[in-house]
Amino acid sequence: ETQMETLEFQAEARQLLQLMVHSIYSNKDIFLRELISNASDALDKVRLAAFTDKDLQADTDDLRIELEADKDQRTLTIRDNGIGMSRAEVIDLIGTIAKSGTAELLRKLKESKENSADLIGQFGVGFYSSFMVADKVTLVTRKAGETEGTKWESEGEGTYTIDSVEDAPQGTSVTLHLKPEDKEDHLFDYTAEFKLREIVRRYSDFITWPVRLKVTKTVDDETTTEFETINSMKALWARSKDEATEDEFKEFYRHISHDWTDPLEIIQMQAEGTFEYQALLFIPSHAPMDLFMRESKRGPQLYVKRVFIMDECEALMPEYLRFVKGVVDAQDLSLNVSREILQQDRQIQLMRRRLVKKILQTIKAMDESKYETFWREFGAAVKEGLVNDFDNRTSILEISAFASTHDPEKPTSLADYVSRMKEGQEHIYYLTGASRSIIENSPHLEAFKAKDYEVLILTDAVDEMWVSSVPEFDGKQFQSVAKGQVDLSDDADEDRSKDFEDLLTWMTEALKDNVKEVRLSSRLTTSPACIVGDANDVTPTLEKMYRAMGQ
Ligand code: ADP
Ligand code: MG
Repeated sequence: ETQMETLEFQAEARQLLQLMVHSIYSNKDIFLRELISNASDALDKVRLAAFTDKDLQADTDDLRIELEADKDQRTLTIRDNGIGMSRAEVIDLIGTIAKSGTAELLRKLKESKENSADLIGQFGVGFYSSFMVADKVTLVTRKAGETEGTKWESEGEGTYTIDSVEDAPQGTSVTLHLKPEDKEDHLFDYTAEFKLREIVRRYSDFITWPVRLKVTKTVDDETTTEFETINSMKALWARSKDEATEDEFKEFYRHISHDWTDPLEIIQMQAEGTFEYQALLFIPSHAPMDLFMRESKRGPQLYVKRVFIMDECEALMPEYLRFVKGVVDAQDLSLNVSREILQQDRQIQLMRRRLVKKILQTIKAMDESKYETFWREFGAAVKEGLVNDFDNRTSILEISAFASTHDPEKPTSLADYVSRMKEGQEHIYYLTGASRSIIENSPHLEAFKAKDYEVLILTDAVDEMWVSSVPEFDGKQFQSVAKGQVDLSDDADEDRSKDFEDLLTWMTEALKDNVKEVRLSSRLTTSPACIVGDANDVTPTLEKMYRAMGQ
């Protein structure tokens, strides 16, 4: 028998709670979406656990979410009979924030007052959003298969209590003691039936479990209460585009991505025949903060015949498309698949190929303004595909854009570059460097500017990698203006090496410890000299990268 303890929230959790208590969200309704979403996850998990562990003493008969409001007590309870939590899990999951990037979020929130709602949405504050509407929250939970229950309670101000309870039912109930200041405002009356119906319809209709509201009916002086299902429960990915509204798709996107802003693109796929699956994918409208962090997760959720199997199924999505969110529901996979098995599975590989193709096609079909947003946010990630995805290299080149000397404002596609190539120009010229201004001031560029050759300005770290591994586009090879002999001489320019032979020999000798050769160049106009690499040498930037990687 463990007794009651009072514990402190971890520092970051406390800061986040402060934000919720002194709510900066204008839209408080979303607390219910967050709690229903957690309940839905818990039901997914208990069903999966019962499938994979036959010995688990779990009750999976009538999995559901219940909402019960008490007008007199001013409480609202959200209850599920899902997986539940052990005492240790409650402390771990509710008392701390494990999510990477929370520190970053808090820092950004301090900096910007304006977009804070967007920022919070991007991180999905989840359970803590209950403190936007409640001044006390009581959570009672029992983990499936365990006997002892746990009660957690907090007023959101730095500490919480945790206690053991007897006879708690399997699953979790969250009781919100609603703030008194919202009492008079019917917009915020979270005990009102119509209000709860409205929020569930708006935010949680697609949840695949029944959300049941306790309603009281009086007929002929007789009062009865019953639980009424108030969501349609239709899996959104199984519906056609005309059977679901744009808003429903967007809400679903929020549910799975925790992103407050609308997606840029919604992609629906329904494959029939011997190998049946449905996919609903989203391209977000902005990059997540961890897009370039090592551990960033990727891949859609995987369902098998409507049964949730896993989050972030990385076997279904290549790394360079890690920002794509969504759901894939396959008909013919085993419910017992593991991540390891998935990596080898032929059907999964086939699906992945189709998803990638479809995503690339969708990007290609974007209108100009959408594409501009897309490329600004995700271009640097997509270019990694040029190095890793041989099969789709051409498609990726076709949807790529690069800064160039042609237009200082607007990046160019390779097709447009090629269409502007000068008479007799054989190569696509580029220069890599740390920034546009460094590149523009490079002596390497002088002759190209003077003779009006367009040069791509490549400033992303990944550019160094792909230019050395992609052989060509549309039959034109990529050529660095900083490497080898770039021959821009017109017929009028004669070879004057002979005239300078003595000087060049002398200079080569004098500098022999530092350079291989000194030669005349037609690439300079105002600078007297510049250093170039051999065609096969690694560039200074790449050299630095290799060194940083310890190679
Ligand atoms: P998120 O859902 O993004 O992980 P939350 O703050 O909403 O963040 O929830 C934190 C964690 O607490 C969840 O990941 C889950 O493990 C646990 N949790 C919350 N609500 C429930 C619930 N109803 N049943 C079981 N576990 C829950
Ligand atoms: Mg959650």
